[in-house]
Amino acid sequence: MTGLYERHLAVSPEWLALYYRNPLELTHGEGRHVWDADGNRYLDFFGGILTTMTAHALPEVTKAVSEQAGRLIHSSTLYLNRPMVELAERIAALSGIPDARVFFTTSGTEANDAALLLATAHRASNQILAMRNSYHGRSFSAVSITGNRSWSTTSLSPLQTLYVHGGVRTRGPYAELSDERFIRACVADLEDLLGHTRGVAALIAEPVQGVGGFTAPPDGLYAAFREVLDRHGILWISDEVQTGWGRTGDHFWGWQAHAASGPPDILTFAKGIGNGMSIGGVVARADVMNCLDANSISTFGGSPVTMAAGLANLSYLLEHDLQGNARRVGGLLVERLRAVGAGSPAVREVRGRGLMIGIELVKPGTDEADPEAAAAVLEAARAGGLLIGKGGGHNTSVLRIAPPLSLTVAEAEEGAEILGEALHAAA
Ligand code: PMP
Repeated sequence: MTGLYERHLAVSPEWLALYYRNPLELTHGEGRHVWDADGNRYLDFFGGILTTMTAHALPEVTKAVSEQAGRLIHSSTLYLNRPMVELAERIAALSGIPDARVFFTTSGTEANDAALLLATAHRASNQILAMRNSYHGRSFSAVSITGNRSWSTTSLSPLQTLYVHGGVRTRGPYAELSDERFIRACVADLEDLLGHTRGVAALIAEPVQGVGGFTAPPDGLYAAFREVLDRHGILWISDEVQTGWGRTGDHFWGWQAHAASGPPDILTFAKGIGNGMSIGGVVARADVMNCLDANSISTFGGSPVTMAAGLANLSYLLEHDLQGNARRVGGLLVERLRAVGAGSPAVREVRGRGLMIGIELVKPGTDEADPEAAAAVLEAARAGGLLIGKGGGHNTSVLRIAPPLSLTVAEAEEGAEILGEALHAAA
């Protein structure tokens, strides 16, 4: 105990989630490792989802940030700055959206807020389709489209939200169906919903649900949805806050697993692009981006220091083919985790795409979620020198693994071994 925990309680609301019985105070990081205030070193299998996309203390990012900080920190969208324009151009080109425009925010929540503002204004409707079990952020409007009710801090809402089946493949009413029949059932459900609803603005979905437990529909679901949405003029927002930048290995964006549908109308991003610096944003076709009625401004969106970090991080990610690394090392890690989990009756499923891997735990001999086991494995892994995350549905029983994308084979093997021991000791 360092005393920081008690001080933290003085400034944090009770609803702010915190990992571990004895919460962790991180002091520094390097590569795929972080250290705590007691000098303990941890292999970080969760930093990639939090904010560290490529590596902790990546020298290229540190240099870009300190050089820019030495020149100019002053921030406002009232003025232009070169790193912002350059990063926007690169993201627009990568997004796959034709005639794309980028607006920078400082978080994923704010990015989704901006996307909802655009979609509702463009369609003159406050009706939104969202996926069951989804998570989209912390603001009033983001909470009101979040299907995972254990993260919906209020049931009041500025939007009318209709929840759609399909985000979760292996649980729920359609779980037993083949992929093809699963997609048909979800499309029929969507059609049924729209048969009784007029003028919906948009469907928002995470291609792989993050907080919901790293769970994805079969490839092609959103292409099938897209056909229905197009018939009704409904926009498609892809929340790529967790799935963007190559994390899923096979694709740069999560929506590309549904490629027949073409790009979404709106894409949101955040988290890792700044490698720890607060960058979020929304990408949309020009006609959608430009549909608002009056002036707006963002003081910190597009700040030159965060943009310099984003540019350096994105360059590193592309030049070192970290998407390819996510595919290769992630594939191996899933195999190893399946092997170490095989002997544990608590492991229901090990699933993954690239370096976005979930291990779903159940009470042995049942199909019932086991949040206590997940919490115990988190503690045991920490004791073994490994940080992981958890998530999944209303009962947090999925271990979440999302290391920085530069993870090496040796680190993947080491982490799998520690996790195997933690699983056997705690679940
Ligand atoms: N969308 C998704 C898919 C997320 O996972 C998160 C964060 N967990 C958010 C939005 C919100 O991002 P932020 O915490 O940066 O506001």
